[in-house]
Amino acid sequence: MILIFRQDATEEQIQAALRKIESLGYTPHLSRGALKTICGITGDDRAIAESEFDQLPGIETVLRVLKPYKLASREFHPDPTRVEVGGVSIGPGCFAVIAGPCSVETEEQVESSAALAERMGLSLMRGGAFKPRSSPYSFQGLGEQGLEILSAAARRHGLTVVTEIMSEHDVDLAGRYAGVFQLGARNMQNSALLKAIGETRKPVLLKRSMMGTIEELLLSAEYIMKGGNSRVILCERGIRTFETQTRNTLDIAAVPVIKRLSHLPILVDPSHAMGDWHYVASASLAALAAGADGILIEIHPDPSMAKSDGKQSLNYPHFEELMGRLRALAPHLGVEIR
Ligand code: PEP
Ligand code: MN
Repeated sequence: MILIFRQDATEEQIQAALRKIESLGYTPHLSRGALKTICGITGDDRAIAESEFDQLPGIETVLRVLKPYKLASREFHPDPTRVEVGGVSIGPGCFAVIAGPCSVETEEQVESSAALAERMGLSLMRGGAFKPRSSPYSFQGLGEQGLEILSAAARRHGLTVVTEIMSEHDVDLAGRYAGVFQLGARNMQNSALLKAIGETRKPVLLKRSMMGTIEELLLSAEYIMKGGNSRVILCERGIRTFETQTRNTLDIAAVPVIKRLSHLPILVDPSHAMGDWHYVASASLAALAAGADGILIEIHPDPSMAKSDGKQSLNYPHFEELMGRLRALAPHLGVEIR
């Protein structure tokens, strides 16, 4: 961190700032120029907030040199991280397709999705048992019964379950069924849940919130990693903008930006980003081309009857067609669809 003093800062104000730096356990390095005096703070000062200094008399600007997140950053960990789950190594060279219904509704529905995922050569299946719906009157998910349905179908077809948890109280229960915890967009900044997941050693699919910046997403990943769980997979799922033609705006730019800032894998959720199945194939192909490490995609045997997100769910023929297109493109990009 660098403090820049006002031109009219008094010697007493400068000395007070230096004492404050020392009181926080850091070393100040003062440099007096002809016009400006600045002070560098050495050491890993990510634990100090700018607000410690910017209100002190005599301070003009406080500049942060290090990223506010560390464990999630490329600065700290230059090589890309692979998250191994269900026989898939999510990371460079692999494009993981995690398909399944938005919500677990019936045994038959989940069984048919699992059978299709297996037939497509996939290893991971999504499905929600706890649903974070915008309206309290909408279907809220089957809870534990849904987890049982999911895991039974996954077992029959050799798949690993990816499922959302909405509360730290669900960690133990869902942990018995899930291979990967999904932390949804609405909970990206739920620090109690982030900390609880950080204490587990289970992989977590952390979704960007609809109004979260990339830096905030990486700070949420930092919460989980700080607890000791480094198996974090990020997911871009569309952000809110002024555009109304799609449910959200797919921030495809987040993929290369996150790849540069962080070593963690990044997936794209084309279903929630677009909100309409007509656009889901294009967004999936864009994700692959942009260098994402995979997609999280909603499918349903009869989307018109789905209890949630039917409009954005691909029916099975459309999903098979998309898989064919992804498989045709993947070798040109040097990645394998898993
Ligand atoms: C979901 O994956 O079904 C979901 C609720 O996603 P999001 O948290 O991105 O809205
Ligand atoms: Mn959904």
